[in-house]
Amino acid sequence: MNNVSVKPKENFEERIVHLKDLKAFAYLLRYAKKDQTLFLTALTFLFLSSLAGVLSARALGELAQSITNAPIDESYTWGIAIICLEVATISLLYFGRRWLAKASLKSILRIRKALFEHIQRLPMEFFDTQPQGRIVTRITHDVDTMESFFTSTLARLSNAIISFFVVFIAMILVDWRIGCIITLSMIPVFVITYFVRQPVRKWNREFSIRNAMINAKLSEFLNGIPVIRAFGVEKWSMKEFNKTINHHLESAISINKLNSWSRPLIMCLTSLPLAFFIGLGGIAVIHNRIDLAVFVTFIRLAERFLQPMSVISQEMHVVQTSLINTERVASFLQNSDESKVLGENGDFNPSSLDGKIEFKNVEMAYVKSKPVLQQISFDIKPGEKIGFVGRTGSGKTTALALLSRLYEFQKGSISIDNHDIRKFDRDALRQQIGVVNQDSIIFEATLRDNILAGAKNPDSQVIKACEDTGLATIMANNQLTLDSVIYDQGSNLSSGERQLLSLTRILLKNPSILVLDEATSNIDPTIEALIQTAIERLLENRTCLIIAHRLDTLKHCDRIFVFKAGQLVEEGHADELLKNKASYYRELIESAKRQNNEQKLPDA
Ligand code: ATP
Ligand code: MG
Repeated sequence: MNNVSVKPKENFEERIVHLKDLKAFAYLLRYAKKDQTLFLTALTFLFLSSLAGVLSARALGELAQSITNAPIDESYTWGIAIICLEVATISLLYFGRRWLAKASLKSILRIRKALFEHIQRLPMEFFDTQPQGRIVTRITHDVDTMESFFTSTLARLSNAIISFFVVFIAMILVDWRIGCIITLSMIPVFVITYFVRQPVRKWNREFSIRNAMINAKLSEFLNGIPVIRAFGVEKWSMKEFNKTINHHLESAISINKLNSWSRPLIMCLTSLPLAFFIGLGGIAVIHNRIDLAVFVTFIRLAERFLQPMSVISQEMHVVQTSLINTERVASFLQNSDESKVLGENGDFNPSSLDGKIEFKNVEMAYVKSKPVLQQISFDIKPGEKIGFVGRTGSGKTTALALLSRLYEFQKGSISIDNHDIRKFDRDALRQQIGVVNQDSIIFEATLRDNILAGAKNPDSQVIKACEDTGLATIMANNQLTLDSVIYDQGSNLSSGERQLLSLTRILLKNPSILVLDEATSNIDPTIEALIQTAIERLLENRTCLIIAHRLDTLKHCDRIFVFKAGQLVEEGHADELLKNKASYYRELIESAKRQNNEQKLPDA
């Protein structure tokens, strides 16, 4: 649609369903299902690695004991055992992490694909209210953060959590009293980590929202550069952008403030128990209150126990960030797709249509209690050419968008060839309706790919279409071939040339019904003449609905439908309507003439 959204910007964020951490995580786990064997194998290897680490600690204790009181041979055995166990620990860790990363990367790939597929199914109203930059952030930045979490943090974290439990059990088995003391000494770390979690989460969510805002603003300003330059408002756009990045900075500083005191404190609290244990345990060994083997084993075990704690608390920030992003990606995937908004897809899939159209008492509102179309009823015969006329905002584009089922209407019925449009398969219906918009949509691709837009016609047909619309003349003048690359948004074409390209695209598609939302921009007379010829060629042998701004185009119409504030107020042949002195159509035409622009209607 050419109109900008009328919904207030403040509502944008409400489209995000806030999911709880674990729910979001569980939702995304479905994308990991295919690799569950790899995940389980990786986690088993991480578990075995921790076990080997614990056994190595135990062997170290025995080695220390054997050096003091047993024959030296036994020490060799323990020494070799330690080397073997350490090698096993590292190898198992290597494979565990590698496979975990591999399985994670594959799952992330699936999530990226799912996100893009989901975008294709989202209803138009979603794009009306969500800034482009935000959608881009979801697919790029948010998924990237999840990727780094899955490929590195998850492995470290799984390893830490597994080690934590394995070592805890080992400590209890070796000496339950010392085990309990070391475990209890961790309570302050648990408490701090728990309480810091909430603010970290809050600021991370804020950070993520503001990050998306930066991208949204950036894409808005990049798209608007021609206007910004033309109006000389670079300073204003810089000021607006600075505001956004300042907000972003605020949240980044708040996160860092939290981290700057919580991380060192946690590191200190995780190291202190070990220092106490070494001091007090050493004294106990000297007084023969505990075995040297137990003492050495505990030093290693305590290290292996405290290190995961510090990893867990240090990674808290990354975990929170990725949980927030996981939440946002999961919520995005849960946005209602087209079928929820427009109802289930029908299965009627005709190969061609006659083009008979009927609207019966159709009512439509984008926003509740603000009707845009009221009681619209009309019949159009196959092959008829209808001009839609009315002041800006009178509902012409909306009425025709309903025909392609881009939006849902609330009351009445619309049928094509006597079949309710809700019974059609939506893709099949859209295939039969060719829409030439006010804005020509051009992709960065060759001229051929832009004309084909996914179709598979041979070059001979593409060239024929170019000749029919006159695009071939432009190509010859500008030395363009079908292989020439057209830049994003057709920036290396003039607006008239872009319109010709759109018209050629539709001619090749050869739809049964043509919807022409005529562009209003001023273009040079040569191209204007070419466009007129192209339009005439396009109007042949099909039902045509033309939102006309040029009086020239209206000449081709069998009937004119005149819209006023969402209602169809008049219909008839242009001459008849003009003859009637009281007609609204006549008023519109006269008002156009008063504006000294004989060729344009007033809203143009
Ligand atoms: P123009 O001649 O300027 O193209 P139009 O007759 O085609 O105007 P529509 O685009 O159908 O007018 O818009 C009719 C009304 O619906 C306007 O008030 C407009 O603000 C509103 N509107 C259009 N598109 C949307 C949208 N996507 N979301 C909300 N409101 C919309
Ligand atoms: Mg319009």
